[in-house]
Amino acid sequence: MTIFAKIIQGAIPCNKVYEDEHILAFHDIAPRAKVHVLVIPKQMHLAGLQDVSDADRELMGYMMAKIPHIAALLGVDKTGYRVVTNNGPHSGQEVPHLHFHILGGEQLKHL
Ligand code: AMP
Repeated sequence: MTIFAKIIQGAIPCNKVYEDEHILAFHDIAPRAKVHVLVIPKQMHLAGLQDVSDADRELMGYMMAKIPHIAALLGVDKTGYRVVTNNGPHSGQEVPHLHFHILGGEQLKHL
């Protein structure tokens, strides 16, 4: 079980920003920007984008549509923010549970 699964189940606490029946958003424990929040699906079958199938189209669209709402809750919607997903070893992905990083609150270095 991943650390995110434990957070979803409430076995490990998180600093929650947003939650509904499909997704959970919480502050990253080791922030890489002034605002650094993780958005994760509550479903546990997706380790990364490689696992996404047609059956996940609704969930993937739902997560994308919620990110601007979460950004507004964080107060970064007007100033802008970066959305990142690490996928696999070369990306440095640490947690094999699909998630999106929202980074902002300051000027980020250009990619
Ligand atoms: P990734 O490297 O894309 O897999 O991102 C995993 C992220 O999860 C990292 O930025 C970690 O700092 C973060 N993280 C790990 N454990 C926790 C936790 N218990 N609460 C919040 N964030 C965490």
